[in-house]
Amino acid sequence: MAVESIKCLVCNETMGVKLASGRKSGKPFIMLVCPKDGRHFRAFITDQNYVKQVVEKSERLYCK
Ligand SMILES: [Zn+2]
Repeated sequence: MAVESIKCLVCNETMGVKLASGRKSGKPFIMLVCPKDGRHFRAFITDQNYVKQVVEKSERLYCK
């Protein structure tokens, strides 16, 4: 399932996707936050293979 298709369980808004990296580990992870209210729903994906895929895909989309 694509991260872009996840919706907030509280308000049904499409979740905002952010890339971040761990302060201690330096490993990238994906953070999903409800754009309406961060208290609604928050999720983290730390699977490195999946994160790498998403990073590569977004680089292709946004970096020119
Ligand atoms: Zn919400």
